[in-house]
Amino acid sequence: MAKTVTLHGGEAVPALGQGTWLLGEQSERRREEIETLREGIERGLTLIDTAEMYGDGSCEEMVGEALSDGWREKVFLVSKVYPHNASLKGVQEACERSLKRLKTDHLDLYLLHWMGDHPINQTIAGFEALQRAGKIRRWGVSNIDTDYLEEMIDAGGTECAVNQILYNVSRRGVEFDLMPFQSKLGLPFMAYSPIEQGRLPRNGALAKVADKHGVDPYQVALAWVMRRPDVIAIPKASTKAHVIANAAARDIVLDAEDLAAIDVAFPPPRRKQSLEML
Ligand code: NAP
Repeated sequence: MAKTVTLHGGEAVPALGQGTWLLGEQSERRREEIETLREGIERGLTLIDTAEMYGDGSCEEMVGEALSDGWREKVFLVSKVYPHNASLKGVQEACERSLKRLKTDHLDLYLLHWMGDHPINQTIAGFEALQRAGKIRRWGVSNIDTDYLEEMIDAGGTECAVNQILYNVSRRGVEFDLMPFQSKLGLPFMAYSPIEQGRLPRNGALAKVADKHGVDPYQVALAWVMRRPDVIAIPKASTKAHVIANAAARDIVLDAEDLAAIDVAFPPPRRKQSLEML
């Protein structure tokens, strides 16, 4: 059985999902992108992450098309609200627009994309109204560091299901304090850009570990993100070859020697760093 991560609140979701940023923006690539998403779903990558921001809605429209014809039921669907839409009323209106583009009657998880100017208690009240109306099942946040997490909890946000953050071998700052902080809360992570948007080095430590396992360096980078029991990785792929490679990364078991080699090339943080965003 494929590995899962348990959200705060108790639901198990796949540890490997699919991102969608930059998909749905080129009409000539739409068919291939839809087929790639469906290929991933068939391989168990059934958590799909999107956002109203991506392509100003064109990404959600493409995802909606990919999930038509019975695919929606197979998927744990995540979208995100812009901070400037995250008022009590605004979050509910934004969700309605997302649902329409996604051609569905509910989201499985709705995230605040990053912290904006609307008071977090208003955003939470909007999320809770959406839950009562059956429009979203769970809510969470993204790009939130320890200070804002504390603020959110003080504002009554104890039902937050997940924090989606930038995390990969070359972006380990969160290991210093955000990860231990969330571990205490039992609040898991969704790691975005888990292969650094395709910019990781193909030589050096990742390549050596990859050679040992007979795989590709990017698969090692994904397996590394998924080594933690509280991290869901959401790589984006627009070709079947990439989504197939990503799905296979779930079978790689990194040993202590592999992890030590990666630590030398990509050292863990020694002090607090502010949360990075892409
Ligand atoms: P990513 O997943 O780290 O990298 C995507 C890039 O890697 C694409 O160029 C893709 O190429 C390539 N790729 C995919 N699989 C590969 C493989 N097996 N080998 C080599 N290259 C591969 O970056 P991302 O798209 O920024 O992050 C993933 C998702 O996280 C996004 O799509 C989005 O859903 C979410 N995200 C959230 C935030 C936030 O603020 N919350 C920010 C950024 C991203 P092809 O497209 O050619 O397959």
